[in-house]
Amino acid sequence: MSGGAAKKEEKPRKFQAIKGVRDLLPPETALWNRVEQTAHEVFATFGFGEIRPPIFEPTELFARAVGGETDIVSKEMYTFEDRDETSVSLRPEATASVCRAYIEHGMQQLPQPVKLYYMGPMFRRERPQKGRYRQFYQIGAEVLGGIDAPAIDVEVIEMVMTFFDKLDLQGLRLSVNSIGCRECRPKYVELLRAELLKVKDKLGPDSQRRIETNPLRVLDSKLESEQKIIEKLPRISDHLCKDCAEHYAAVKQELDLRGVKYRENWRLVRGLDYYMRTTFEITAQGLGSQDAVCGGGRYDSLVGLLGGPPTNGIGFAIGEDRLILSLQESGKAPVVRSRDVYIAWMGEKAHATAVRAAKDLRKAGFSVELPPVEQKFGKALGQADKLGARFALILGDNEVTSGEWTLKTLADGSQAKFTEPNLLEHLCRNKALSS
Ligand code: ATP
Ligand code: MG
Repeated sequence: MSGGAAKKEEKPRKFQAIKGVRDLLPPETALWNRVEQTAHEVFATFGFGEIRPPIFEPTELFARAVGGETDIVSKEMYTFEDRDETSVSLRPEATASVCRAYIEHGMQQLPQPVKLYYMGPMFRRERPQKGRYRQFYQIGAEVLGGIDAPAIDVEVIEMVMTFFDKLDLQGLRLSVNSIGCRECRPKYVELLRAELLKVKDKLGPDSQRRIETNPLRVLDSKLESEQKIIEKLPRISDHLCKDCAEHYAAVKQELDLRGVKYRENWRLVRGLDYYMRTTFEITAQGLGSQDAVCGGGRYDSLVGLLGGPPTNGIGFAIGEDRLILSLQESGKAPVVRSRDVYIAWMGEKAHATAVRAAKDLRKAGFSVELPPVEQKFGKALGQADKLGARFALILGDNEVTSGEWTLKTLADGSQAKFTEPNLLEHLCRNKALSS
């Protein structure tokens, strides 16, 4: 500081992450990486390629695709004006972007259907609680173009279940439904509206409003007092047109064929107009009331709605935060190793050897901690312990001169001497045994 002006130094402000968003930290991020790596692998076996759409888009895209009436668009988007006064929004979901990209890049010229998946952050200004954040992560996939064969719906579901099984996610429940098409759904919705009007005064204010705006959403209601009433309402499965009924029957048959266990839930609806026929949801254990880890469905008119050619579409989005939470709660999160080897070195000659040893061990794939400055062995071993290292490699002048290195196993304190080539071999053998 110059001058010595008697200005009282202000304590700098400490910053905190904004409400509803959070840092993901090690070691937990290792689990996130594993989940994402597994998704890349499993989805590739189903012939899906990765798309990385931008994180912000024109607000209008979401208004059109998700629907201006939805909570997501009307209340929850992070929207701002760019310098050229266009309105842009952080994406609340990615299906709209994937459809936009399909149209923009003329993907209808490619062999159909086009199978894409994505992963990354989404943004919704919701009330934060367990399993609900304002920046959260989704892993999703979309199948665009081609035909609307039931086997496509089921392959998409089979892919999610294969992914979840591979992660050993516990307590999975898959619910499926069909919500009809432009032919049969409007008639059902009218019937539902008429029935709801008869019981209107027994419903809560939200449902009362939805009788007009979107009667299907009443079926979503979790309000205890409405459950008995809803159970008596007409069910869409009794009002599907012939094509939809056949499609739905074939979906169920195909699920059986592939050994995918499911239950039907006639109240599983997607409140948006462009959704049709197959809808599904998967819940997992350990999540309390936010237990949906995946939602999906068919949306054959969405690409058309965004100015593209008539295009079939089906997809899903997995909530990665909840997926991770469920793995952690059920004790299925893999134990992540911290360091394989801590190199405790003392002396100038030992330093050069330690640097070389670290390089060789890292090259062989070991996680190595090489302290930047010399430490007394006692302190170094304490440090190795704190870091949870498996082994400490002790390199002092004696070791360097004799060419016999000391390896200490921290779990039991046992020590053994190795020559340099033997050491690597020993560690590799040990690693093979423990993994
Ligand atoms: P919910 O009923 O839990 O609000 P949703 O119908 O809004 O879910 P979708 O838009 O279908 O969810 O998104 C798919 C998945 O993304 C959900 O099943 C959930 O796992 C996850 N998800 C949605 N919103 C959030 C959020 N705010 N925080 C964390 N995960 C979320
Ligand atoms: Mg929601």
